[in-house]
Amino acid sequence: MNTTATRGNYPEQYYPNTEKLGAGEMRIVALGTGRPFLRRSQANASWLVELGNGDKFVFDFGFGSQMNFTALEIPYSDIKAWFATHLHTDHVGDFGQVWVGSWTGGRLKPLELYGPSGPEKKYGFKHFCEKQMESYAWDTDTRVGALPAVGAEINIHEFDYSKTHVVYEQNGVKITSFPAVHQYDGPVSYRLDWNGLSFVYSGDTTPSQFFIDNAQGADVVVHETFNTVEQLMERSGYDEKSARAIGTFIHSAPEEAAVVLKEVAPRLAVIFHFFNDFDTAPEIQEKVRQHYKGPLALATDFMVVNLTKDEVVTRMTEISNHVWPNKAKHDGFGEAKRKPMMQMSDWLREAQLFPKVPSDRGLIYRGDD
Ligand SMILES: [Zn+2]
Ligand SMILES: [Zn+2]
Repeated sequence: MNTTATRGNYPEQYYPNTEKLGAGEMRIVALGTGRPFLRRSQANASWLVELGNGDKFVFDFGFGSQMNFTALEIPYSDIKAWFATHLHTDHVGDFGQVWVGSWTGGRLKPLELYGPSGPEKKYGFKHFCEKQMESYAWDTDTRVGALPAVGAEINIHEFDYSKTHVVYEQNGVKITSFPAVHQYDGPVSYRLDWNGLSFVYSGDTTPSQFFIDNAQGADVVVHETFNTVEQLMERSGYDEKSARAIGTFIHSAPEEAAVVLKEVAPRLAVIFHFFNDFDTAPEIQEKVRQHYKGPLALATDFMVVNLTKDEVVTRMTEISNHVWPNKAKHDGFGEAKRKPMMQMSDWLREAQLFPKVPSDRGLIYRGDD
C-alpha cells in the first residue's frame, strides 16, 4: 500500500508557502466560487494565477474573496495586477479590501487595476474606481500620514470592452480580453497565455461564440454555470420565471456551459458560480455530462490547480484561519514616504489621556504639549 498520499507528483493537499512553483509551471487557486449571496463556504468570484516566472495576477475580487487571498500568505506587493471582468458586486465588491487592505498589509507600490469600459462613461471601470476612491476619502486621507503614501495610489487601466485585444503584455505574459455576453454591454472574459500554457476565465457569461473562439487550445478553462433551475426553485425559493431568468438568461445553465466546453475541449474544464454542495453537485455534473465528457472539476473555494506541459493536478488547499498579513517582504514599510498627518480638532486631542502628536514624518510619538 502506498502510504504517502499524492496527486500526481504533488502532495495530497496544498499547503501555502511550502511548495515552490516550477520555472515552467502555473498554479491557479479558486479564491471565490459562489453566487452573489455570500456564504462562509463560498466567497464571491475571484481567481489567483501564479506563474513560474514569479508573476501573480488576480482575476475578479468579489465580496469575501480577499479573506481567502490573505489565507495564502502572499505578500501584496507580489501581485502584478488585478483584473475585473465586470462591475457586479460579486466580482468587484472587495474593492476596498484590495485597495486599502493590501495597503495596510504592506503593499509598497501603486495598485494596478484593469477593467472594461462600458457603453457609457458611468458604466465603465474607471468611473467605478474613481467613485469608490472618492467615497473612501475619510479612510484614505486619515491613513496617508501613518502608512506609506504610495499605497493610496491606483493606476486604473480601462480598456475597450467591445474588442478582442491584448490588454496586458509584460515579462512573457499576455492577457487578452474579449466580450462576455452577460445582461448588458460591458462584461469581458480573459485569456492568459504564458510559456505555452493558458488559462481562460469567463467571468459571467451566457454561452457564446466569443468564448468558443477565444478559448481554443486553452489548457485550463474556467466557465461559469449557475445552479440548475430546479435547484433555484427548490433550494433558493425562486419562482420558475425568476429561476429561468437567472439560471439560463443571465448565467449559463450547466448543460449549456457543457456545449461550450465540448467545443473548446480543454485539458481541464472548471465550472464555478454555483452553490457547490454534496447534494447539488451531482445534479450539476449530470447536466454537464449530457454534452461534455472531458476532464472536469466543480470548483469550490481553495481548490488549486497545478499546470505544467505534462500534468494538470487538482487538489484542495489547507489553510490557517489565523494568518497575519505580509510577514515576508515588509522591508521598506517604515522608511517609505508619508504625507502630513491629518490634525483632529483641539477639543478632541485635549481629551486624550495620553497625548500624542504627529511628527513631521507623520509617525506618532508621545509629545509633551
Ligand atoms: Zn454578473
Ligand atoms: Zn457573478
